[in-house]
Amino acid sequence: MSERKIALITGGSRGIGFSCAKELAKAGCDIIINDICDEATAKPAIDEIKGLGVDAWFYQFDVSNDEQVQTAVEKMIAEHGKIDILLNNAGITKDGLFVKMGAEQWERVIKINLGSAYYVTHAVIKHMMKARQGSIINMSSVVGLHGNAGQANYSASKAGLIGLTKTLAKEFGKRNIRVNAVCPGFIQTAMTADLGNTDEYMKLIPMGRLGTPEDIAKVVKFLALDTDYVTGQAIEVSGGLII
Ligand code: NAP
Repeated sequence: MSERKIALITGGSRGIGFSCAKELAKAGCDIIINDICDEATAKPAIDEIKGLGVDAWFYQFDVSNDEQVQTAVEKMIAEHGKIDILLNNAGITKDGLFVKMGAEQWERVIKINLGSAYYVTHAVIKHMMKARQGSIINMSSVVGLHGNAGQANYSASKAGLIGLTKTLAKEFGKRNIRVNAVCPGFIQTAMTADLGNTDEYMKLIPMGRLGTPEDIAKVVKFLALDTDYVTGQAIEVSGGLII
């Protein structure tokens, strides 16, 4: 078993997840990247992380499929022995005004963004309990705290993650497992690429710029590695978008 900490990052082949993977790798963690894409698509990400001097492995599965999650996590434990850090990062948007939002549009987002955190955490946490240590970080959003017109499904899923975070922090604190959420604002990734002209958003941000994946990764690394006493928190990383 690796002496280094092992971090599992869902949806980690690009965007915020990939940045978090690199930040944790730079701090000396071995990295397990999950994504729904195939191995060839994830290979450049895995190679870049290996270039940082740690081990990196790719597991392709759909985080919203309980059976696939359980099989993959058991395989990870059999092959690598442990998971010290879990970042539930995979997520999607399917935006639209509530009155026009169909049930499929609602259910898909809830299942991928919130259901996944149940499936993956449930599969991983029993191994953290045996190890009597662990750090779990859920990628929420500022809209999970404050809501956003046109994102009822997404906001509900991200608010649900905060409720899950606080509850698991209470249930698992005595087992030395910390659970926190990060709430990004507007971060420049593929997810926000179709926002178009961002001048109007920037006027709302005291820091005067959109966030980068690296801005989020620094906070994830702090929660994962630099503190032993922060748990049950939902930390906004938004350049002061909502104060
Ligand atoms: P992104 O670039 O779209 O990355 C999301 C990753 O998750 C993609 O690699 C995607 O794979 C993967 N994924 C989607 N569905 C999956 C599934 N069922 N199983 C496994 N992997 C799956 O998005 P991002 O901007 O980095 O967002 C990362 C997280 O931060 C999300 O939870 C998002 O809600 C949250 N967030 C982002 C922002 C922002 O401004 N960007 C703000 C607040 C919160 P494919 O591309 O192959 O589908």
